[in-house]
Amino acid sequence: MKLVDFLNFEPLNRLKDEMGIPRDAYGSFAITVDAGRLTLSELEALTSGDGIEISFNELTVLQDGTLAYKDSRVLLYIRDVHEYGSAPREPKYHLANCSTLQDMQSKGRFERYVIATEVTGTFKLNIISKNVKRSERRRLHVCQNCLTDIGFDGFSRDDDREQRRQYVGAFTPDRFFDVYPRSLHVKKPSHTAFTAPLNDYTPDFPEISTTLRSRAGWRCEICRRELSELRLRKYLHVHHKDGVKSNNSPANLQVLCMRCHAEAPNHSHLKQLPAYKAYLAEHPPL
Ligand SMILES: [Zn+2]
Ligand SMILES: [Zn+2]
Ligand SMILES: [Zn+2]
Repeated sequence: MKLVDFLNFEPLNRLKDEMGIPRDAYGSFAITVDAGRLTLSELEALTSGDGIEISFNELTVLQDGTLAYKDSRVLLYIRDVHEYGSAPREPKYHLANCSTLQDMQSKGRFERYVIATEVTGTFKLNIISKNVKRSERRRLHVCQNCLTDIGFDGFSRDDDREQRRQYVGAFTPDRFFDVYPRSLHVKKPSHTAFTAPLNDYTPDFPEISTTLRSRAGWRCEICRRELSELRLRKYLHVHHKDGVKSNNSPANLQVLCMRCHAEAPNHSHLKQLPAYKAYLAEHPPL
């Protein structure tokens, strides 16, 4: 097959001339360095919960404090669990370079870190007891220092202990990846004639959303339902009125409970989500 040489492809060049685009401009194609992408086997290991063993310096700490390996946001945990008594200390999984991790780094404790992107919070552990090692999958809890450090859902150590316990007990990584997407494929900062704007959230949207919801007193702007309890905050959304997810101008944003959000134009898909049904079951209309 003969490929067209677009440098000397006259129909395209004439079109460019007509559009006033320089002949040497080819639009912005997404170019990613191969070494920076997950391999298929890495992707499988990450999503299956098997995880990948890694040293901390192979990770990138992103600007928002979360952790990345190559082009993917990841969770981090320590695989080896030493069982001494009857009640082993279960490790937590981390979402961010939290104070616990920083502390371990500064003390030179280089444990065997494992990264994963598994969404239910079930990870493969090595249980070591009396020099016998066995593999086991366990559901782990999220690190509270991570939640505090990135202010997830406005989580803070000042929150009521019982509320925090409930929140962490129900928290699964899919909730984290909803707000902080796994894929880090670079978004074009500006548009050219050849690239349509991507309708996607900006990287700082999680922060904007938390600030806005907190400022609103964790209350829906339409029905006025208060959802300040930690475990309920996930039902409070920030809606983009014009449908453009990157337009975070204050006038375009509205704090809405899931019920009111699902009534916004083109939002009926929200009604298919299990969270919507759970919210309605627990919160009949006011
Ligand atoms: Zn942590
Ligand atoms: Zn509402
Ligand atoms: Zn919306």
